[in-house]
Amino acid sequence: MIKSNTEDNMQTLQINSERLWNTIMETAKFGGTAKGGICRLTLTDADRQVRDWFVRECESIGCTVTIDEMGNIFTRRSGKDNSLPPIAMGSHLDTQPSGGKFDGIVGVLSGLEVLRTLNDAGYITNAPLEVVSWTNEEGSRFAPCMLASGVFAGVFERDFAYLLEDREGKRFGEELERIGYHGKAKCGEHKLAAYFELHIEQGPVLETENKMIGVVTGVQAQKWYEILVTGRESHAGSTPMNMRKDAMLACAQMVEGINALALNHAPLAVSTVGLVEVKPNSRNVIPGSVFFSVDLRHPNDTVLQQMDSELKEMVDRVAKDMDIKVKLENIWSSPSIKYDRECISLVHTVAKDSGYSHRDIVSGAGHDAVYISRVAPTSMIFIPCKNGISHNEMEETKPEHVAAGASVLLNTAMACDKAI
Ligand SMILES: [Zn+2]
Repeated sequence: MIKSNTEDNMQTLQINSERLWNTIMETAKFGGTAKGGICRLTLTDADRQVRDWFVRECESIGCTVTIDEMGNIFTRRSGKDNSLPPIAMGSHLDTQPSGGKFDGIVGVLSGLEVLRTLNDAGYITNAPLEVVSWTNEEGSRFAPCMLASGVFAGVFERDFAYLLEDREGKRFGEELERIGYHGKAKCGEHKLAAYFELHIEQGPVLETENKMIGVVTGVQAQKWYEILVTGRESHAGSTPMNMRKDAMLACAQMVEGINALALNHAPLAVSTVGLVEVKPNSRNVIPGSVFFSVDLRHPNDTVLQQMDSELKEMVDRVAKDMDIKVKLENIWSSPSIKYDRECISLVHTVAKDSGYSHRDIVSGAGHDAVYISRVAPTSMIFIPCKNGISHNEMEETKPEHVAAGASVLLNTAMACDKAI
């Protein structure tokens, strides 16, 4: 597909990596924190500022901006045939409360850099190109995450989103109105020919293996559980060891078992107990009950299903051995996602032809692309981030990695355009 186009000027276009880096640093001031991160929760004033900047910038380079009823921003650069659905690139501009400068932002601003590069070269694509900024990917102010891409893909109802409240009781719909981004376009009616999302890896694999580009083939399957262990509260001094029903001890054995569960399915399985509540949480009372969460993930649905059975068996065994009650609930499941084979192969070919070291990778985290893949052929491009750290003000990625990612994004979009 791509080979036939090597004669023309598509291979010679270069993104302006310095301009892109400066743009990332310039917009980092909207919600910028003292420690060099960003706090730009969705639909806050800082979010409005970065949106205003983005819309102004896109209009100043001749793009048409459409805002839908979820506040998603679509900025379009015309092609030769504007009856074709656009090839889209994008991600999100909102951050975690103590987020970094790159998560999501790299995807949106690299899309902008692609449009600027094409403008500089006077290159007109066949189909229109668009950069999309999705509202509330992070979900930290209004849960769940990937909210507006979810509404776009028909996973959530628009009115469900409008009624969501933050911790102060402010509604999503009202806040969207307040910042002036309640657009007229119906969410989800905007057809996309394909969608490409550039993102930092948010894990250590690319950096450890010294690879520039991750060709993302999909997103792993995930299951969340809540477990309540009930023992018997009693006095820490006067209850002999052989007469206790210690819920915390049972929990500890289960946590050990949950860790072993992932190790049994190494190297791809991961398991985490991240939230624990002990009752009564008093230093001289044997814990009567413990509530905790379990997060299990694996790229393969069958293996995850097996881990599910092993979890239940292990939990029952511990409860039986210790004569303790246990209630286990699977509160959320997300099957594995496989991105579009053609889109993956475009990214792969471009990374290879550009001479970037690369590897296939399955995303450990969710992204807007997860939901968009339900309604448009989709794939993602990953670049390394320092020590795999993300959702943190220390989040860092090198200018050359951002440049490599943006360059792959540009050439993938152009190769996709040639293939249409
Ligand atoms: Zn993100």
